[in-house]
Order: sequence, then C-alpha cells, then structure tokens
Amino acid sequence: MTIGEYIAKLKNNPAFMRNVTSWLVVPERAARYGAFPASLDARIAGALRARGIERPYIHQSQAIEAALAREDFVVVTPTASGKTLCYNVPVLDAILKDESARALYLFPTKALSSDQAAELYGMIESMGVDVKAYTYDGDTPASARTAIRQAGHVVVTNPDMLHQGILPHHAKWVKLFENLRYVVIDEIHAYRGVFGSNLANVIRRLKRICAFYGSSPTFICCSATIRNPRELAEAMTGRKMRLIDENGAPAGERHVVFYNPPVVNAQLGIRAGAIPETRNIAASLLEAGIQNSVFARARLTVEVLVRYLKDMVRDPLGNAGRVRGYRGGYLASQRREIERELRAGNITTVVSTNALELGIDIGQLDACVLCGYPGTIASTWQQAGRAGRRGSTSLLIVVASSSPMDQYIINHPDYFFGQSPEQALINPDNLYILLNHVKCAAYELPFEEGERFADLAETPELLGYLEDEHILRRVGGRYYWMAEEFPEAGINLRSASDQNFLIVDITDPKKHRVIGEMDRFTVPMLLHQYAIYMHEGAQYQVEKLDFDDKKGYVRRVNVGYYTDADLTTSLKVLDEFEQRSDGAWTRARGEVLASSIVTVFKKIRFDTHENLGWGPVTLPELEMQTTACWWTLPDRLEEGYGREPLKDAMVGLAHLIRHIAPIDLMCAPQDITVVYHVKDPFTGKPTIYLYDSIPGGIGLSDRVFEMDRALLMRARERLGECPCAEGCPGCVGVTAGPRAKEALKRILDDLLA
Ligand SMILES: [Zn+2]
Repeated sequence: MTIGEYIAKLKNNPAFMRNVTSWLVVPERAARYGAFPASLDARIAGALRARGIERPYIHQSQAIEAALAREDFVVVTPTASGKTLCYNVPVLDAILKDESARALYLFPTKALSSDQAAELYGMIESMGVDVKAYTYDGDTPASARTAIRQAGHVVVTNPDMLHQGILPHHAKWVKLFENLRYVVIDEIHAYRGVFGSNLANVIRRLKRICAFYGSSPTFICCSATIRNPRELAEAMTGRKMRLIDENGAPAGERHVVFYNPPVVNAQLGIRAGAIPETRNIAASLLEAGIQNSVFARARLTVEVLVRYLKDMVRDPLGNAGRVRGYRGGYLASQRREIERELRAGNITTVVSTNALELGIDIGQLDACVLCGYPGTIASTWQQAGRAGRRGSTSLLIVVASSSPMDQYIINHPDYFFGQSPEQALINPDNLYILLNHVKCAAYELPFEEGERFADLAETPELLGYLEDEHILRRVGGRYYWMAEEFPEAGINLRSASDQNFLIVDITDPKKHRVIGEMDRFTVPMLLHQYAIYMHEGAQYQVEKLDFDDKKGYVRRVNVGYYTDADLTTSLKVLDEFEQRSDGAWTRARGEVLASSIVTVFKKIRFDTHENLGWGPVTLPELEMQTTACWWTLPDRLEEGYGREPLKDAMVGLAHLIRHIAPIDLMCAPQDITVVYHVKDPFTGKPTIYLYDSIPGGIGLSDRVFEMDRALLMRARERLGECPCAEGCPGCVGVTAGPRAKEALKRILDDLLA
C-alpha cells in the first residue's frame, strides 16, 4: 500500500476518525535556490555537481557567504535540508586556499560524528584533493592519534572528547589551535540544560586556549527549529550571531493528525490507553508495509511496544526483524546495525525514544506515530521530520495519553500550531558547573591574577575559593593547578551524575556479556534487584545490582509481566532568595535539598496492564541540591474548606502543575518535580513546590516564579474544560480522591478572584 492509499483509508474509517481532534495538511513547499559565491574554489562546485547539486538552496548560499566573510552565524534547518553543505563548503574552501587552515566539528554523539565525517570524506574523495579529515573520539586507535594531531585539517569530535581528550592536552595540538579557522557546532538545539551549560563552558575553555595560541575561530552553529536559536548560539559561543532561517529546501505534503483515544469509562473519565492505541495504529502501518517510526517518551514504553509489535510478525521466516527498538542504553554497535537496516529498508517499524530525533541518517520514512505528546513542540516537529521522502506525502499521528499536558495539547490544536517551538535554555553561569570548568581551565593554563574566565566578574572569588581548598596555588601572580588528580576525569558533561552503569547478561555462565548501559539516576527505577529489564523486546531479570561497581547482572527470562518502580521524594528549603505576595498567596524562589528513594516496585501484566503485586527495593537515597519556586497558600483555606478537601485539592493541583508547567517552560516533563505539603515545615502553611530536577537548577523554577498567576490560571482553565465528573488522569489525577476536582475549582476561584 502507498502512503497516499493508507491516508485515504484512514479518512474513510469512521471508527478512527471519531477520535481525531485535528487533521491538518501542511502543503508541499517548492525549493528556493541561491548561488555559490564567485570566489569559491571551482573544484568544490564540481564535486557537488557530481553529486547532483547544481546550485545551493537559499539558506545554504547565505550560510556559505557568511562563513567565507568570517561572520559567526547559526543556521536553522529542518531534517534533510542539506545543512552539512552550509559548513563543509566554506571549510573545504578555506583549506584548499590555505593548507594550514584547520577546522573543528562538534556533534552531540559519536554516531553523528562518524555519520557526518563519512559525508565529508565522500566530498574530499570526489575532489581528489589532499585534505585530511578524521574523527577523534574514544574509538580512535592510539596509533592514529598522533597523525591526527599533527596533520588533521578537519577534526570531527564530540563535546566529551574535546573536554577530556583534547583541551587538557592542548600542547599536543599546537597546529590545530594556532590555525583554527572554524568551529562547527551541529545540532546545537540538543545542548540544553546541564549538557548545554557544560558545553558552553567547554567552549569558553576552547576560546581561552585559542587566544593563547593566537587564533580566533569563526563559529558556525546549526539548529533544528526552536524559538531562540540565536540566543542559544550566543550563550553557547559568547559571540554575536547572525541568524539564517530562510529555509530553501523543498518538502512534500504532510498530514498531521491529532488522535485522542476514546473514553471507555465516562464516570471515571478513563480513556483507552495511548500504548494499546499506538499499537493498533502501528500494527496497521506494519501490515500495510509502510516504513514508519513510532516514538515513545519512556524507555519502558518503547520496550513494551517493541514486544507487542514483534509478536505480530514473529514467524519461522524471521520477520520479527522487521520491527526493531532503538534507544539510549543499547550498545553503539547494535544501534549502528539498526540504522543500516533502516537505510536499507529491511526494517518496517522502528520504535524509539527521542534518541532518533537527532540527525543520524536512517533515510526518510513515510509515517511517524507518537505514543504520547513528546512534551515540546520542537520535539514533535523533529520526530515528524523522520517522515517525508523528497517530494512525497508523509503522515504524522500524535496519540494523546491521558496526562493533562497531552489532553491540553490534543484539545488545543491552535496552541500547538500557533506557537513557535520552545526555547532551549542553558545556564553556563550555574555555579556548580562553572566552578568545575574553572578548575579544568586552571589545569589547562594557569590563571593570571586579574584574568577573568569568560569575562566573568566572579573569577577572582572562584580562584580564591579554589586556593583555599588547596586545589590551586598562587605563586608570583599566577594560579597553578596543584591537586593530584586530573579535573576533567570527574566531570560528566551530560548529566550531573558520574558514569553509567553497565548491564551484564549472565544467562550463559561461561560467557558474561555487556548488553547495555544506564545512567545512575534511572538505575533505582529500572535496574533494581528483581526488576524486569527489557532490551529490544527481550526480557531479563535483574539478579543483582552492584551499586558500587556500577553493574547490573541480568538473566534472560520470559514472563508475562514487566516492572515499574515508585519514586518517593522529600524536600527541605535551604535558602529563600526572594518572596512576593499576591494578596491571596505568596510565592518565593530559593534553594532546596531534594532526596529521593525507590522503595517498592510493581509487576504489571502485559496487555491488560493489571497490577500483579509488589516487591521491595533497598537502595541508597539520592540527594540533590537545586533551585525551586513555591506557592504558600493562606491558612484560611483549611478553616474554610476543611483539611481533607484541602489535601485532595493540593494533590490535584500538584498533578496539574506537574503536567502543565512543561508546556510553558521549554522542558520535558521529567525536567521538573512538583511536591505539596498541606502543612509545610518551612512555611507552616499549605505549600506547593516546583523544582528543577537537575543539580544546581537551570532556571526553570525561576521562570515559573516570573510567570506569576499565569500557571495557576492555566491550571484552572484545564480543570474547567475537562469533561470528567470527578477528576481523571487528564486533570487532577486518579489518586486525588473523588472530591478533589470540585474542591480545587473552588479554591482556585477563591485564590484567583
Ligand atoms: Zn478530568
């Protein structure tokens, strides 16, 4: 079946159409072209012609011109719009004109680096010129490293390698740093939160080292569509950026369908689950032979869907391989294999987390199904970008879950289509992150007295602190590194936690093998003892978790259930920075200590999703210091409404805020945490806290503080339009009790009056 036929079939299916809240057709867009600058080396245009590129799209020609004029810029390009040309062309031109010129390419992952390097090799080969481009990462053999340092014109790497493997050893990279002409930061939108704040500091260190060797590279950034690409690129590079966002690439017609699963219990407001509905839609695509990707927010959902879909096609012919999973935590070799099979068309359905959002080349598919709203408009479009072969029609189906955020979006298509995608926020001046990089910078080159790191006024204070801690020593007007260890080693750019845990399969006692990895913060949830760990639909039981050695030992099993753990958090205010009163309530922001612990897990049966029982988890508590915003409600609420209704209302309000706040922040739901206390130990009154789920915070709760009444008003709006009678997952949640919805309505009206 063709995608056109499939779309026609959906439109004629009343059972499907009944649940569609919006069906939008984004019309086809024709290409718009520019021209290559006259000064460009003729061999480059020749090589491009050989690849079927006669002239550049308008955004490519603008980018090439800016780069040749050594102007810093950020180009905003959707998937498959030819962004690599924007930097490969000026970089090759610079090297062909001056053999000593050097460039550094940064990609967020190793996979992307090798992908993009392959494209660059292709161009160099077809030109028949002597330009040396290399990837330099953890997989680069030691024997090749010296050659790369000496002779590499283009060094393709990732932020982690720049941080740990290049900057601390700058003395071995003199040629690169003396002649660095261009720094390319691709997929800059991927650097948000902790990772982005860390990278901005790595770039500060890079600029400091370049200045030492007398170079000042031009920065070229590429971003997917977000609201603030220029602001992000400027915060990342510390440079004024030109914005190039006139996309000239053509695109086929795109159908965007919002699908809300039917209500199956009107009284309780329960809708059919997003997972079974997604399974049905994906199954019909699979049956029709339409190549598609299914995106889910959680790893667990990915694994459950892979299992369901594999079961559909499991047969002696080995067709189960037509369905594959894809997510972080799979080994790199396995992911490369899946990408190859996708490009070759041997996989019909790939089920993935947002790991496939980034620009890794898997070819273009025909359809995309999102199991739950991905949490941001930007992510939705990036995932949608996986579908759409040049010039042909594509289909995106967003299946809403029953969370308030999903229900808000699915019922407000105008909000989704009318807004520009979210902002990506970073906070390079987060003290926790900054201090780490000042240490690294001091290790790389001693600080001169009076020198300011990235022009920051607090530099002397930070250096003084490090001196007091015996990490630096001041001698003759300079601060020298004196600690034993190497500072970079202890700093993980991607999260505030240290390295990942390895997942070891011990099914075969003679041959233990590593099958995957997991970050420390997820381990208590998914890798505790007796958890069922799922990997591409296969099941393993965790036999033992070695927390100190960072290993989880698993054994292959086949059981009819999976596990999910409950996280309990507690909170303590450490410092209040600011407080404002709005008459009815006060709101404050400050610093808090959040402790979280997993104590129980539940077993959930496949298909019916019924709870089969509980089990205990004994793991250490995790502590995190972060920033928070809190609302303190007046005492009179308890007197006026009674303690129990007030408690129900607060459970409901916390549930609503948790799911609605990410709509206004750029963030994913897991980036924030919301908790409530009916009588808070710090304020003595009913209080709701929202904090950044990231050590040190990245400014999310600060933005909530500034939003003032808007968040509570949006919560009230959602409450008013939810059709349920007594509260449901789409408004106050199901744990709040039957009176919660009514009580919360009255309390919010009272407060907002
Ligand atoms: Zn409801």
